[in-house]
Amino acid sequence: MAVYTPPLRDMQFLMHEVFHVVDDLKTLPRHADLDVDTVNAVLEEAGKFASDVLLPLNAVGDTEGCALDVSTHEVRTPTGFKEAYAQYVEGGWPGLSSDPQYGGQGLPLVVNQCFYEMMNSTNQAWTMYPGLTHGAHAAVHAYGTDEQKAIYLPKMVSGEWTGTMCLTEPHCGTDLGLMRTKAEAMPDGTYRITGTKIFISAGEHNLSGNIVHLVLARLTDAPPGIKGVSLFVVPKFLPTADGGVGARNTIHCSRLENKMGIHGNATCQMELEGAIGTMVGQPNKGMAAMFVMMNAARLGVGNQSLGLTEVAYQNALVYAKERIQMRSLSGPKAKDKPADPILVHPDVRKMLLTAKAYAEGGRALMVYSSILLEKEHYHPDEKVRKDSGEMLSMLTPIVKAFLTDNGWIATSGCLQVFGGHGFIKETGMEQLVRDARINLIYEGTNTIQSLDLLGRKVLGNNGATLKKFGKLIAQLVEEEGVNEDMAEFINPIAMLGDKMTKFTTELGFKGFQNADEVGAAAVDYLRVAGHLVVGYFWARMAQVALAEIAKGNTDSFYKAKLQTARFYFARLFPETASCMLTARTGAKVLMDTDAVFA
Ligand SMILES: Cc1cc2nc3c(=O)[nH]c(=O)nc-3n(C[C@H](O)[C@H](O)[C@H](O)COP(=O)(O)OP(=O)(O)OC[C@H]3O[C@@H](n4cnc5c(N)ncnc54)[C@H](O)[C@@H]3O)c2cc1C
Repeated sequence: MAVYTPPLRDMQFLMHEVFHVVDDLKTLPRHADLDVDTVNAVLEEAGKFASDVLLPLNAVGDTEGCALDVSTHEVRTPTGFKEAYAQYVEGGWPGLSSDPQYGGQGLPLVVNQCFYEMMNSTNQAWTMYPGLTHGAHAAVHAYGTDEQKAIYLPKMVSGEWTGTMCLTEPHCGTDLGLMRTKAEAMPDGTYRITGTKIFISAGEHNLSGNIVHLVLARLTDAPPGIKGVSLFVVPKFLPTADGGVGARNTIHCSRLENKMGIHGNATCQMELEGAIGTMVGQPNKGMAAMFVMMNAARLGVGNQSLGLTEVAYQNALVYAKERIQMRSLSGPKAKDKPADPILVHPDVRKMLLTAKAYAEGGRALMVYSSILLEKEHYHPDEKVRKDSGEMLSMLTPIVKAFLTDNGWIATSGCLQVFGGHGFIKETGMEQLVRDARINLIYEGTNTIQSLDLLGRKVLGNNGATLKKFGKLIAQLVEEEGVNEDMAEFINPIAMLGDKMTKFTTELGFKGFQNADEVGAAAVDYLRVAGHLVVGYFWARMAQVALAEIAKGNTDSFYKAKLQTARFYFARLFPETASCMLTARTGAKVLMDTDAVFA
């Protein structure tokens, strides 16, 4: 079985030493009484739940998968999943950061994100059952009627009911404007929804008493395309007046996908045969409401890969210390042994450091994004809410695509550290690689995230939000510009920040003349932007580490942080140069290829 130690020290470093989360969030009325000890105690318990309850079920879920009973349409999850979910509910974990008005504990969202990182490390497939519920909860919370909120929110907060998102259809994934599922208005104000949805994660299972499906569908008189899509809440069991479950609704699972990874999560084809639903938000404005859920899910998917990167690193490190093979090029290191541990080899270290740098840099971005999410929703000052929302909106495609691309690189590199043994099932590494692969695809493929970043979030507002991020870099340069020890961390981001303005303007100009230029450059652009953002956080982490060392703090944590920061800037950050180069080669080399594809 894979090993896992919750990275509590690194989480606490980010929360308390880099971002000063408690002091920052205390300015929000809902967190006026927040204290460091509570945050730390909750994370410690959360880490125990992840390692003691979920980790032992990860390989079981992968081997057993889920099973559909075609006569009842019920889905059985792998051995132990149901019991683990019961423990999760009993422990009060579903409502950790939810609104106290609906029974939640109201802790900061960043605490929940850290909890989810640990659950994703130990069992991504299981974690998707409760994970999607948060997004469904957020959409109903933001756009639901008072009645919908009263019926659904307390049940999702307590974990008695779980949620799903039903967008995809056989002929429409990325292009939701092609959607065919129909919603017919009934005289009583409800709708009858008919159609087929595919690839619905956690669409059917035996963990909770009810499943709350958020379904996109088209009203019978809707205009064509994406502007004719509405959102509906369609429960598996219709709720009764007293908050219980009533009649079975006509939505069921007709097929389970046999897939590459996350076997423990049921990926369902859902048939809606006149299923009863109520509308969430306005007619034909379903995407606005669904985007609340999709944005939450995009951050969640980035967090999935962050979790996998961390656990892959931890396992590869243990192996690299134990496995002996060949002698170090610079002379024997373990003279008492017939060979040296593979950790002596530079390239093995490179693979380990890549995973560590992506995990810790990604975690910093995740923590920062969660603070923005909190402020966007709950800060008393409207301007802070707006600014936080805009920044988060720009960072969301980076969290989703940069962290999942890096998760794929990191899990694959960590498997490589195991050599042939990584390819063998029992080490657990190949499962991590297989599980990591979906994260680049669902919730909008990484190509779509890149187009969203460059096209909408950057060029769409003339780079205004990107410039605001640039100001954070400028502020750090101002603070530390004379500190020679910080030069190696600050110079690369300051230089890239300067280049970014010209690079963006250039792509915008080319894109204005030919939109394919944006499509041709977007993926490279996101890698550059990802490094700019994560590079900034690495510089801030290095700043804290240097200050502690200067004070005489001998905790090796800070030394390791600096060494990892150095590796990041020396070996990973320079990818930005090649990405800028390839982005600039333009669309022609891709599009002027008729003979190739004839
Ligand atoms: C395991 C799993 C779980 C899932 N869970 C859910 C779920 O819970 N709910 C749900 O609704 N859906 C879910 N999905 C569906 C998932 O979100 C879609 O598969 C994904 O959005 C891509 O859609 P598609 O598969 O139809 O690919 P397509 O849209 O057909 O895309 C095919 C390829 O074309 C590229 N492409 C498409 N359009 C463009 C463009 N404009 N520019 C550049 N490239 C483009 C894509 O990037 C991709 O590489 C899940 C899928 C899987 C496999």
